[in-house]
Amino acid sequence: MARKPASAGTCAFCGREVAGTGMTKHLATCAERQAAIDKAEASKRKAQPLYHIVVRDTIDGLYWLHLEVAGSSTLVDVDNYLRAIWVDCCGHMSHFVFGTTRYQELIDGFFALGDQKNITTKASEVLRAGLKGRYEYDFGTPTELKIEVIGEREGKPLTTKPLTLLARNVMPAYECADCGEPATHICMQCYFEQGEPGCYLCAAHAKEHACTLYGGPKKRFNSPRTGRCKYNGPAKPPY
Ligand SMILES: [Zn+2]
Ligand SMILES: [Zn+2]
Ligand SMILES: [Zn+2]
Ligand SMILES: [Zn+2]
Repeated sequence: MARKPASAGTCAFCGREVAGTGMTKHLATCAERQAAIDKAEASKRKAQPLYHIVVRDTIDGLYWLHLEVAGSSTLVDVDNYLRAIWVDCCGHMSHFVFGTTRYQELIDGFFALGDQKNITTKASEVLRAGLKGRYEYDFGTPTELKIEVIGEREGKPLTTKPLTLLARNVMPAYECADCGEPATHICMQCYFEQGEPGCYLCAAHAKEHACTLYGGPKKRFNSPRTGRCKYNGPAKPPY
């Protein structure tokens, strides 16, 4: 029997594995995160508003990221980060929606329609604690993410990059539907036709699997983009 995985995650500072629901509390008290903050404060970086955001997939929320976004960065930086760590397969279009405003790439010569703004908008002009929004990548085979700003502080960014990873989920563990070994593949045809858990397969059973729609079983990654389009894993860190 495949089991529903727990949505645990790892703190990027101390490496501890924490239940998904406890990660916000852990980050607030993690001594190693505090040491990283103290070190950043002693640096020459510019103090600015820093936003703690949580990003989750909208399917079941098993995939999640805690990120800190520097106020001076733009939504393009957030987009690039999400593409690198999670979603990019072949450079599809994407957008953010916060409130009734859609942030996307506005091509020169076209006027913004209705509530549209350029994705080059600065994070500090959009984000504030308590704000909820969403992100969509690839409007053909979409991957949709929920974004929530769960905190805001004034300080120096922890790295020289626009975004810093605070924590992320551990890859959900599934067992092969045929033999019970750890599943390294997913069949999207079975996933769409019969749902979980029958769609998860080990490498050997993925090879023998008869489904041909969507190109047969696909390799699994720690990403909500797994199995979609030509997704072939994250970019090489650092982002
Ligand atoms: Zn920690
Ligand atoms: Zn694609
Ligand atoms: Zn198997
Ligand atoms: Zn199948």
